[in-house]
Amino acid sequence: MSSSSRGLLLAGVGGQGVVLASMIVADALLRAGHDVKQSEVHGMAQRGGSVFSHIRWGSKVDSPLVPLGSAEVLAAFEWAEALRWVPYVQEGGAVVADIRTIVPPGACSDRRSWSTRYPDVDAQVFDCRHLKTRLIDATATATELGNVRAANSVILGSLAAFLDIDLLHWEAAIEGLVPRGTEEVNLAAFRAGREVADARLPRLASAPEGFSGPHEIDIRHEWCKGCDICSRVCPEYCLELDVDGKLAVVNAKACTGCRLCELLCPDFAIEIHPPPAPVVLGAPVLSR
Ligand code: SF4
Ligand code: SF4
Repeated sequence: MSSSSRGLLLAGVGGQGVVLASMIVADALLRAGHDVKQSEVHGMAQRGGSVFSHIRWGSKVDSPLVPLGSAEVLAAFEWAEALRWVPYVQEGGAVVADIRTIVPPGACSDRRSWSTRYPDVDAQVFDCRHLKTRLIDATATATELGNVRAANSVILGSLAAFLDIDLLHWEAAIEGLVPRGTEEVNLAAFRAGREVADARLPRLASAPEGFSGPHEIDIRHEWCKGCDICSRVCPEYCLELDVDGKLAVVNAKACTGCRLCELLCPDFAIEIHPPPAPVVLGAPVLSR
């Protein structure tokens, strides 16, 4: 990388808004007066595939690609993608990582016990090369603000804390590029991301110990357009569209938590939650 240019990386999976976030970063850098080059790679057209974007900026930039070990910041929208891309960060660089875990169905080694080969969320993996890390739960923050789809703006806010770009440029880029009508929630998510504390760790991609029951299927009917993708992909026939085109859970007990429906829903209209910890009858009540 030429001495006049700097680099960063954004990485996540399809459906998380990585490409839009990358456009916002590039636009904010342009507004700040830099020459900017940006590249994107889409792993899959559908949700779930790996998506990443390289951005370089400076007085003059020849290529958008950030060489291994030279990115100033990595913003990872998903835990496994953070691990995949951290070698691109330079010594002393920064890693902003969402602790959200999106477990691909292929990583489920035992669908009925929620056993996976997905890596645990463990902050210590970044204890090397003097990296500065900020682990966040962007989904939780965006949900608290009223729109889970603004999670990418929460991550942008955390990323902004490591870049010397004026706040005015960030906010103008967000207002100009997010879907019309979502400017306010995305700006609020961005500001929250700048302030958000490190996520409480560990939040693992596993069900509570002793799990043996079905997962909880949460359908947001106001976002569901009745496309029928989820019911067709569900291997356990848990879901069905009724005669009015409304999605219904018809076999909740059979849900194994494979999350195929959640990953492939184009409208974020379905979420799968691990079952609550088992209640032990007769267990003593502890007082503090
Ligand atoms: S895939 Fe999503 S939008 Fe389509 S029917 Fe299922 S929940 Fe609704
Ligand atoms: S409802 Fe969703 S998570 Fe449950 S088994 Fe079907 S596809 Fe998997």
